[in-house]
Amino acid sequence: MLEQTLKTNIQKIEKNIQEACETSSRDVDSIKLICVSKSVDNETTKQVVDQGIVHFAENRMEKLLEKKEFLKEDRHIKWHFIGNLQRRKVKTIINEIDYFHALDNVKLASEIDKRAEKQIKCFVQVNVSGEESKQGVSPDSLDEFIDSLSVFENIVVVGLMTMAPYEASNDELHHIFSDLNRLKTAIESKQLAYAPCKELSMGMSRDYDVAISEGATFVRVGSSFFDDDEKEVGTDEFI
Ligand SMILES: *Cc1c(COP(=O)(O)O)cnc(C)c1O
Repeated sequence: MLEQTLKTNIQKIEKNIQEACETSSRDVDSIKLICVSKSVDNETTKQVVDQGIVHFAENRMEKLLEKKEFLKEDRHIKWHFIGNLQRRKVKTIINEIDYFHALDNVKLASEIDKRAEKQIKCFVQVNVSGEESKQGVSPDSLDEFIDSLSVFENIVVVGLMTMAPYEASNDELHHIFSDLNRLKTAIESKQLAYAPCKELSMGMSRDYDVAISEGATFVRVGSSFFDDDEKEVGTDEFI
């Protein structure tokens, strides 16, 4: 993509993050911006790396591995796996990533524990909104799920993750994200060695400002990096 467009997009995202931090009296350094690069090719991802972004997320194993190989000179990159991970793929990917954002069942945890060669930083995905289509454990079963992870030496629950429904209103977004924050604080206060649970992975292109105002520490932003606004405006004018 055009370097200028990418630069402008990143500046906009960083400005929005800064403003969201100011309105909620938060330190900008407490937010980590993850570029969700699942929709773009290797070269475009490299362009984002060259703009100084450090965190990258993919939701397909093959694509993550391919990009990691393509970007192997850029060793400072932190790789995040978001989305559904099939158990049979765990052994291939789990030692290649820095964070896993979608832990939501014990069988998967057991497989990760078995295949991991180091402790794996995991986010437990919570289905706060109760949408049927969403992955994640329900808020009601979260405590029990966290308890069940205590036996796995290679799993560290660094925090909680959620996705808000696409059609959620602003009010609903605030509720969902503050609920996740409350659940996080409750687990954090137990001071479990295997579940320090200090982080909140929440907020995507359309709602990361709300997520930050409710305590997000990792925001997962995709389309806002890659949208070409000017092109869209141009198209509108023709219609
Ligand atoms: C695709 C995706 C994102 C990014 O979504 P955008 O709307 O493109 O910012 C964030 N989190 C997850 C889990 C995703 O699958």
